[in-house]
Amino acid sequence: MGNKKQIPGLIDKKAAIFTAMNDRVWEYAEIRFGLKNSADTICAVLEGEGFTIERGVAGMAHAFIAAWGSGAPAIGILGEYDALPGLSQQAGLPEKKPLIVGGNGHGCGHSALCAGSAAAAVGIKDYMQDQGLSGTVKYYGCPAEESGSGKAYFARAGVFNGLDAALTWHPMMENSVWTMSSLANYQIFFNFKGVSAHAAAAPENGRSALDAAELMSVGVNYLREHIIPEARIHYAYTDVGGGLPNVVQASSELLYFIRAPKAAQVQSIFERVCDIAKGAALMTGTTMSLRWDSAVANYLVNNTLGKAMHANMSALGKVPWTESELAFARSFQATLDEGTRKTIPAVVARYFPGAAPAEIEAMAAKPILDDIVPYQETDKVLPGSTDVGDVSWQVPVAQIFTACYPQGTVSHSWQLTACGQSPLVHKGLLQAAKIIALTAADILENPQLVADAKAEHQRRLVGETYRSPIPPEVKPEE
Ligand SMILES: [Zn+2]
Repeated sequence: MGNKKQIPGLIDKKAAIFTAMNDRVWEYAEIRFGLKNSADTICAVLEGEGFTIERGVAGMAHAFIAAWGSGAPAIGILGEYDALPGLSQQAGLPEKKPLIVGGNGHGCGHSALCAGSAAAAVGIKDYMQDQGLSGTVKYYGCPAEESGSGKAYFARAGVFNGLDAALTWHPMMENSVWTMSSLANYQIFFNFKGVSAHAAAAPENGRSALDAAELMSVGVNYLREHIIPEARIHYAYTDVGGGLPNVVQASSELLYFIRAPKAAQVQSIFERVCDIAKGAALMTGTTMSLRWDSAVANYLVNNTLGKAMHANMSALGKVPWTESELAFARSFQATLDEGTRKTIPAVVARYFPGAAPAEIEAMAAKPILDDIVPYQETDKVLPGSTDVGDVSWQVPVAQIFTACYPQGTVSHSWQLTACGQSPLVHKGLLQAAKIIALTAADILENPQLVADAKAEHQRRLVGETYRSPIPPEVKPEE
């Protein structure tokens, strides 16, 4: 590892700052773009470490860039800090019990994500100071990953221009590098306005917006047979026009997600969905308007950077877990239903395709999967979406997962919120910070790595340039 082997020690020296950051942000549990306290907490630490803070970036009050150093290479490190509605849960308790009934909770681990990325940014800064290395480190405080897609607004504003590479991570149940692409996604509200009337006494005077919403979804469900099989369309009723059947519903609203492997494919399906919505309005004598929530591009993998991260993950080795930490993990595994627990060996077998059945059985029996998943180059597309996709169109990106949660638990669950202040998450976020900072050191010290990553990025763009899927007039909404 050369000189960079001192990086893990530099990060361990300041570990308490970043585990405390995780704990604070976990407690705030703010959502979407309303992340004032969380952003204040992260900015205060980075400012104290000598970073220059720019708040209110790209029209989002609690989006920020914290920069240190100057000149090339410029490395971006991405941090997220939004929680999820309805996932409030008491810390450490292996039993579903919200702190605040109906409150928000960090059920996707973004409190750890922001803190691990901040620890990485400070770690590489300390290393650069120690070694007299030049270059720029930029921490991107990215709001609204779960809903709202802050990074897509960042990308539209061009704030990643000038970076040589961007690195990030996500707390997970295993140690791996993300090697799959993801789906581009438009998230759009379709609103219908009708005319209210007494549904029994004067139905002829009414024009039902709820009928329009239903007809729209019937139309879209027929559309499914005539689109590419990789596409996904989901919808939810966000307004049903009231709870009384004897009042003709004057308003209705549906939130649609339209996903496909490429943004151009989403665009063409979106146009057909719009026609269906217009048709539903015409059929019912109502009016239709649409409102963008957000949109994200598909993710472009960068195996050059991904392999560099994997090499550092492997060199760093396993996190040592104590008996009490393993017991803590087991207490949460005991809350999983039988069906979920039975899926664990199949998941492990997918991660370790070359492993013998006995090895898979042994790994599946562990409360925390501490083994390092081999690097798997793949053409597979994750059937999901991320706003890191937009970043990946502008700059080579790599991201890792580190094991922060008991094996078998799932993202967006009360169990993840409950583990959010535990030593599992604390150790997992520091491990991620070390791998990111070690890879940042490779980028600083090995110009060939940057050149190769950029060449791969160009190959994957196949002559296309990034076009934000969000129309220019759409602003991020709190
Ligand atoms: Zn997440």
